[in-house]
Amino acid sequence: MRKMLINGAFTMGRSREQIEVQNPATEEVIDSVPRGTREDIETAVQAAGAVFDPWRRMGANERAHLLHEVANKVRAHNDELVRLLTLEEGKPLPENQEELEWVANTFDYYAELGRHHRGSVLTSGEPSQFNFILKEPYGVVGCIVPWNYPLLLLAWKVAPALAAGNTLVIKPSEMTPLTALYLAEHCFDHLPAGVVNVVTGYGVEAGEPLVSHPDVPVIAFTGSLATGQRIASIGAPMMKKLHLELGGKDATVIAEDADPEIAAKAVAYAALINAGQVCTSTERVYLPKKGAGKFTEAIVEHVRSLRLGSGLEPTTDMGPMIGETYRAKFEMHIEDARSRGATILTGGGRPKHLAKGFFHEPTVLGGVDHAMVIMREETFGPAIPLMEYTTFDEAIQLTNDCQYGLGAVLISNDPRKIKQFFDDVKAGTIWINDPLTDNYAGPFGGMKYSGGARELGVEGLDEFRETKHVHWDFNLEDKSYWYPYGRD
Ligand code: NAD
Repeated sequence: MRKMLINGAFTMGRSREQIEVQNPATEEVIDSVPRGTREDIETAVQAAGAVFDPWRRMGANERAHLLHEVANKVRAHNDELVRLLTLEEGKPLPENQEELEWVANTFDYYAELGRHHRGSVLTSGEPSQFNFILKEPYGVVGCIVPWNYPLLLLAWKVAPALAAGNTLVIKPSEMTPLTALYLAEHCFDHLPAGVVNVVTGYGVEAGEPLVSHPDVPVIAFTGSLATGQRIASIGAPMMKKLHLELGGKDATVIAEDADPEIAAKAVAYAALINAGQVCTSTERVYLPKKGAGKFTEAIVEHVRSLRLGSGLEPTTDMGPMIGETYRAKFEMHIEDARSRGATILTGGGRPKHLAKGFFHEPTVLGGVDHAMVIMREETFGPAIPLMEYTTFDEAIQLTNDCQYGLGAVLISNDPRKIKQFFDDVKAGTIWINDPLTDNYAGPFGGMKYSGGARELGVEGLDEFRETKHVHWDFNLEDKSYWYPYGRD
């Protein structure tokens, strides 16, 4: 049984009830956490509010040092954290090793960016005046995190929010709270009490009280569109700053000039990493009609070679899905496509050799179209639906025919097509020939129903700072443009 962190102390909280955390590869209960309540959120928000002033006034060098120390501790606890990520989330160890490196580096990156500047000087209208912009922290930030990248998506919020001078209450996913609590215990323990609080619990019971709390001016949320809409309906009337990273339905377009073997590997990686449970997973693939056969063949052959199993096994390429509800929704998408005429080219079922765990075979489908649910709604599982296009203009039009706009991938070395793609595709990230690779300095986020927030880069820091303009006139004197207008 793990405890949650409130005001520097580990506690069971008020409810005394627990949430069991399951290993998705074995369905075994690995640990449990407190089922946090509105009262726990209240205590945590008060604790974070009480230390906001000293934290925001702390010297930039000291704060940077404390954030670098988080990064050092994450690296020192690398092996335990990587293993725990695989146990509670399921993806293979190499993917979690990469997640951990991102976490440590994100704290180092924002430690430095946070002390780089806190505003800018403007050109003033008159010589006696001085105008400048201050970037200031908001106060207590509520961070609500999903299960698919439990630590990376936490770090992308927590590191910039702290670097900007805010204090925090984190609500991890009820499915993957163990790594967040481990981080709190081993990597945040040098921070002043109350600066970071972690309250575990369900979305409605612990997440919503955080969203509706009058003393929490910012909600940084990553999760589904439906939850984002619910959060917006609560937070918008309270004029909160809503930082919403929502779903996706990313497309990969393969151009005629692409090498089939390389395109197949790029597509499989983009669609199947974390068993397809990435907000920027490739969920639609568009192939040129000319050459569609060789691209399809290469993709099917490569996907057939992938090995399913526990993420702890070094031979595993793809782990389980997170849970039964998610697998059932995935199977519904496959079934809808099949019933409307799609062909299953490989996969299509649960693996027979894995009796336990929420596994599903990676599934390649041909003959799909945009009437099918699998080409319209977020599938969030290991599917690769293939659709043919005739002209490149049509490929772009199909890519944009979607309510989401998170990312998009092009596999090509044709400069005209590349330019047309990044000019005309409506998505927050465009990847050419290297899908899903992020950059610490590159703002990550979506357009359309994927939400407009940005994480990483200077933009990711500015999401947690509000802008104040100071207009200062050195001459304390009566101005000619003040009342009364009728003076001589
Ligand atoms: P989810 O929306 O079900 O839950 C996300 C978090 O919100 C969890 O901590 C949950 O407890 C909490 N929550 C649920 N209901 C709530 C409520 N009413 N009020 C406050 N908090 C509430 O999402 P999930 O299933 O955990 O994650 C998968 C989704 O996340 C997918 O849609 C995926 O695309 C999206 N995602 C987006 C990005 C991105 O950067 N855009 C990254 C990763 C995942």
